[in-house]
Amino acid sequence: MNNVTEYLPHGFCIAWNPQLLAMHVISDLLIAIAYFSIPIGIVYVAKRRPDAVLQPVYYLFAAFILACGVTHVMGILTLWVPLYYTQGITKMVTALVSIATAIYLLPKLKHLMALPDLGKLTQINSSLAQEIESRRQSEATMRQSQELALQAQKTQAAFLANMSHEIRTPMNGVLGTIDLLLDTELKPEQHQLAAASKRSAASLLSLLNDILDISKVESGQMTLRNNPLELAEVFTDVEAALTFEAQSKNIELHCPAEAVPDATYLGDSVRLRQILLNLVGNAIKFTDVGHVKVTCREVSRTGQQAVLEFTVKDTGVGIAPEHQKNLFKRFTQVDNSSTRRAQGSGLGLAIVKELVELMGGQVHMQSKPNQGTEVVFTLKLAVQLPIDSAAVEPAAGPIFAAPAVAKFRGIILVVEDAAMNQMVVCKVLERLGLESKIANNGQEALDLLAKESFDLVLMDGQMPVMDGYEATKLIRSGTVPGINKNIPVVALTAHAMVGEDQKCLDAGMNDYLSKPLERDKLINVLGKYLKQV
Ligand code: ADP
Repeated sequence: MNNVTEYLPHGFCIAWNPQLLAMHVISDLLIAIAYFSIPIGIVYVAKRRPDAVLQPVYYLFAAFILACGVTHVMGILTLWVPLYYTQGITKMVTALVSIATAIYLLPKLKHLMALPDLGKLTQINSSLAQEIESRRQSEATMRQSQELALQAQKTQAAFLANMSHEIRTPMNGVLGTIDLLLDTELKPEQHQLAAASKRSAASLLSLLNDILDISKVESGQMTLRNNPLELAEVFTDVEAALTFEAQSKNIELHCPAEAVPDATYLGDSVRLRQILLNLVGNAIKFTDVGHVKVTCREVSRTGQQAVLEFTVKDTGVGIAPEHQKNLFKRFTQVDNSSTRRAQGSGLGLAIVKELVELMGGQVHMQSKPNQGTEVVFTLKLAVQLPIDSAAVEPAAGPIFAAPAVAKFRGIILVVEDAAMNQMVVCKVLERLGLESKIANNGQEALDLLAKESFDLVLMDGQMPVMDGYEATKLIRSGTVPGINKNIPVVALTAHAMVGEDQKCLDAGMNDYLSKPLERDKLINVLGKYLKQV
């Protein structure tokens, strides 16, 4: 094929001019060297950047340039050797590779054009870096805000504890003195005014309690008891508390204690009572004719876990559908006008919802204007097994129906720093037939207990010089000469916060009463430790 005899090497025609020959040879050689080295660079880049777009183009280009280099080498060789077939083949290979590159590349040009140039990429890169930095900064700010929010929550809890103390103390004075006033001989008009003051003070206290409750839930301070819960007792209490209100509106109230499931559950009877009092209270408040019915049934039981369903149904004014969904939010009422028909803070249903959910249940409302309202809520409660009773948390103390009139015998040491409260408590005790003596703080109490004999101590918590917790611990320690270390000590504190009762019991107190002092509750507690006459 490379028959030298057939053809002449074409260099012969320019060999007569050595300068021309040198120019051709040197240029072809330099081009060939360049063409051989460029693919090395291209392949190197392609290998290092396997993620680069249009990877095959790199290799096609490398092959194409390499082939071009070979054709230039062939150009030099054929000056002296007539390798025209080989030269033709290398040219054909070069042509094929270049056409393949073109075919591959042309349709892709659109995509290549769409690729951002280096300047743009650098810009994108730097704006991405800026975005990352700003995100990092906002995350740091968010973390800081979270810490601040947590801090604020703690401050709020502390504020609530203090508020509760600060407001309950004067409320004790107000309610106590009005009670005392109402027990004296008054003209009808005076009695009416005093009774009206008592109602206002009581509703202020109930609003305060509602705000405290909702704040307790929000700050995670609401803890539920897990005591034996007698549904019949709860129903009886609710009926007793609201019968008068229903009767005064000529409404029938059915809250049948005998129709509740016959089982003992474990739960928080105080909070269940609160839920029912709220719902039944609302039902009576918003019903003018007809009745209010309360029912309870066990809907399912899995192992020892029961789901109870309570229904409070009335034949009252009802609620329009558009108002129903927001009523479980705080401070929401259907009628916000200043002339609205019933008073209230709009907190009752919000507290109901929070408490029901804390007890693993759900609450729903169904209502039609002028036809009535039905509120249904469920609770998940454990069923108490008789053999398990030893494992159950001890009950907080039975809730007795307070005797209408109770007279006791004995002498009580009232440990209290506020003069108004001293007066109220001593007057109440006097009405119950008890003598009393006052100590202004824990230290004075210890001094008096060491010298004189008492039947019971009513102990405030926070006091100057020595607080009630420390004084009780010292009494129980038996280290103070002359003090009967077993004397009953009953806390009488204004702190209504969760854990306060436990704090008093931990200090060694026997019982816990919170201010404002309720006479019936005081009688119940005194009944446990003193002789009645
Ligand atoms: P309030 O203290 O105002 O009663 P609630 O949260 O208990 O607060 O109730 C919010 C509002 O829901 C009430 O003001 C009343 O408009 C409406 N509502 C609640 N229960 C009933 C009911 N049984 N019938 C009609 N309206 C009701």
